[in-house]
Amino acid sequence: MNKVLQIKDIMTTNLITASSESTFEEVLNLMQKYQISSVIIEKNKEPIGICTYLEVINAVSIYKSKENINLIDIISKDIVTVTLDESVHNSYKKLLASGKKHLIVVNDDNLLEGIVTGSDLFKHAQYNEQIKFKTIFDLSPDTIIIIDPISLDIIHFNQQALIRLGYSEQELTNLKISDLDMITTPFYTQQGIDNLEQYEHTTFETKFKIKNGSFINVNISISLLNFDNNNFIMIFCKDITQEKLYESRIENITNYDQLTGLSTQYLFKSYLKQILLKRDIAGKFLSVLKIDIDDFGNINNSLGHEIGDEVLKIVAEKLRNFFRKEDLIGRFDNDLLSRFGGDEFGVILEYLNNKEDLIMIVSRVMEEFKHLVILKNGFELYLSLSIGISVIPYGFATAEDLIDFADIALRNAKAQQKGSFRFYENILTTKAKEKLELEMKLRQVVDNHELEVYYQPQVDILTGQIKGMEALVRWINKDGVIVSPASFIPLAEDVGCIYKIGHWVLLEACLSAKKWLENGNDLILSVNLSMQQILHDDIVDHIREILVATNYPPSQLELEITESGMMEDPSRVIFTLYKIKALGVKLAIDDFGTGYSSLAYLKKFPIDILKIDKSFIDELPSDKDSITIVKTIIAMAKSMGYKTIAEGVENQEQLDFLATVGCDLYQGFLKSKPVNKFDFEKLIIKDNLQI
Ligand code: C2E
Ligand code: CA
Ligand code: CA
Repeated sequence: MNKVLQIKDIMTTNLITASSESTFEEVLNLMQKYQISSVIIEKNKEPIGICTYLEVINAVSIYKSKENINLIDIISKDIVTVTLDESVHNSYKKLLASGKKHLIVVNDDNLLEGIVTGSDLFKHAQYNEQIKFKTIFDLSPDTIIIIDPISLDIIHFNQQALIRLGYSEQELTNLKISDLDMITTPFYTQQGIDNLEQYEHTTFETKFKIKNGSFINVNISISLLNFDNNNFIMIFCKDITQEKLYESRIENITNYDQLTGLSTQYLFKSYLKQILLKRDIAGKFLSVLKIDIDDFGNINNSLGHEIGDEVLKIVAEKLRNFFRKEDLIGRFDNDLLSRFGGDEFGVILEYLNNKEDLIMIVSRVMEEFKHLVILKNGFELYLSLSIGISVIPYGFATAEDLIDFADIALRNAKAQQKGSFRFYENILTTKAKEKLELEMKLRQVVDNHELEVYYQPQVDILTGQIKGMEALVRWINKDGVIVSPASFIPLAEDVGCIYKIGHWVLLEACLSAKKWLENGNDLILSVNLSMQQILHDDIVDHIREILVATNYPPSQLELEITESGMMEDPSRVIFTLYKIKALGVKLAIDDFGTGYSSLAYLKKFPIDILKIDKSFIDELPSDKDSITIVKTIIAMAKSMGYKTIAEGVENQEQLDFLATVGCDLYQGFLKSKPVNKFDFEKLIIKDNLQI
C-alpha cells in the first residue's frame, strides 16, 4: 500500500552545521570545502538560523571586508521548521506560504535533524501525484503501455500488460512498440499523435503479437504525456479478441456453407478476383468449372430434404477428396472448391498447361461419380454430374465473366446431354484480344500525350457562382475519339497504370488552376484519387512534390476519394488521409451513399466534404425515398461539420429542392458539362461578368 510520504523519508541528514559562535570566515570555508550553498547555524544543538550563499554575497557587498562581518548579524533567523513526521504535502504548503527556500527539520525536542529544500519537496509532491497516477495505472483492467515516441521503446507498463501480453517485466522492457504492433507503428510517433490530436481521433484497431507468438485484437487509444518536459505516449489497449471472434463467426457464415463446409460463392468470387490479379503467368490457363448434380431435384422431391442434404454432403466430400489428391493442378486450396447453393458447385483450377490436361481432369471427376452411392439408410443411388467450363489465359476476364461463362457452358451441357461437359471459350478469345490491345494502349497513354483534363464547375447553390471545378480526365485517341474515364479508369486500375495517370492529372490540373488563381479567381480544384493511389507508399510525398513544383496553394486543393474505396482498408486509408490533410489539402468523399459506411463511421476519417451521389439526385424532387435520403445526408453532414455537394444536377427542380434543404454546392449539366481548359476559362469569365 502507498503510505503518506513524510519529511523524514525525503530530508537530507548529512548536514553541515556551524555553531553560532563561529566566524563568518569559518562558515565561508565550510561552504567552499563541502561545496554547499547553505550551512545551518546552531546554538546548543538547536537550529537558530541558516546561512546561505545568498546571505554571504549580500554581506560581502554591504560590509566590503570579511573581517567586519559578524555571523550572527547576517544569518537568516526566521527559519521555518517542520517535524520529522510532517507529511510532504503539508510541508510543501508551509514552504509556499513562508516564501522560503528551505525548511529546517527538527525532532520533538526541537533539536536539528535535517533540512529539505523546496525542490526536494516539489519533486516528492509530484512523486506523490505520480503514485496516485500509478495506482490508476496498475488497477486499470486494460493494458497500459508508455513509450518513447522517438525510439518507440517501451518505457513503462502496468501489471495488466504483463498478464495480457505474456511477457516478463524484463522482456517487455526490452521491446519496442513496433515489436508488438507491426501494422500501425506510425500512429505511435509524435507525428502520428499530432495528426490524430488535431482531429481528436485517438482510437483505432490493430493486432498485438504476444509472447506465445499468437496475435490478439486490440482497440487502441493513445494520448500524449509530458513528464519533466519529455514527451511520452500512453497507449491504452482494450482486448477485443472475443468480439473479433464473434465477428469472425458471423463472417464464417457468409464465407462457408454450413451444410458441406465448403466455401460459399461469395468467398469463391473473392478468391477468384485475387487469382485474376496474377499476371505474367505466360502460357498458363485458369479455369472455372461449374458442376451440377443431374436430377437432384428428383432426389430431393422423392426422397425428402434430409436425404437431399446427405447427398450434397457426400458429393461435396467426394469432390473435395478428388481435387485434393489431384496433382495435375499443382496446388489446390480447399477454398477453391465451393458450393454455390442448391446442387451447384464451383471449382477454380489454376496453372493449367493446356486444354488436354483440363479434359483429363474433368473426365476423371465424372468417372469418380459413376459408382454407386450408398446412403445411411441403405438406399443406393447412381449420381451423375454435368460440368460447364470456362478457360482463359490469366488476367483476361473478370471473376463475374468466368463464372457466368461457366454457367452458360453448364446449361449448354445439360441441354444437350446430362452427364457431359462443355467448354465456353470462343467469345473469350476475341474479348481477351480486345482487352490486351486496350491494355497495351493504356500503358502508353501518358507518354503519348493522349490524355486531357476536363473541368466541371462546382457552383454555390445560394449565389449561383462558380466556386471550384472537378478535374475529370479524358483519353483522346489518335483518331480524336474521346474515351470516357468510366470505361478506362477501372481498366487502368486493373492493369496497374492508374498511379501514373493520376499523377499526371494532378500535375496538369494544378498547373491550370494555378493560372486561374493568378487571374484573380478564387477557385477550389477538386481531383479524383483512385484507391490504388491512396494505397501507394509514396502518395503523400508525390502530392507534396506536385504542390511545390506548381507552387499551388494546398488550401485550394480538394481530393476526392470514393466511399467504397475508403472501406476497403480503412485503417491504412485513415492514416494516409491524415497525412494528406496535414499538407493542408481538403478531402471529399465521392459517390456518397453508394458504399456501406454509416455517417458515424465516417467520423473516423478526416473529411471536409460529402459529394452526394448522382443516383439520389436523379429522382429529385419526385421520389419520396430520394427526398428522405438527401435530406438526412445533408442534415447529418451539417451536424458533423461537413459541407455537401450534390452531383449530377440536371434541372432547375432538382436545384430548387437542394436549395431548400440547405445543400452547399452543386455540380451538373445544369451549369455545364465537363469542358476542356479553354472552354472552362470562358465559363469563369462569363460567370464573373454576371456578378
Ligand atoms: P465521378 O468522380 O463521380 O465524376 C462525376 C461524373 O459524373 C463525371 O463523369 C461527370 O461527367 C458526370 N456528370 C457530372 N454532371 C452530370 C450530370 O448532370 N449528368 C450526368 N449524366 N452526368 C454528370 P466522367 O467524367 O465520365 O467520369 C466518370 C468517372 O471516372 C468519375 O466519376 C471518376 O470516378 C472517374 N474519373 C474521372 N477522372 C478521373 C481521374 O482523373 N482519376 C480517377 N481516379 N478517376 C477519374
Ligand atoms: Ca469525383
Ligand atoms: Ca461522383
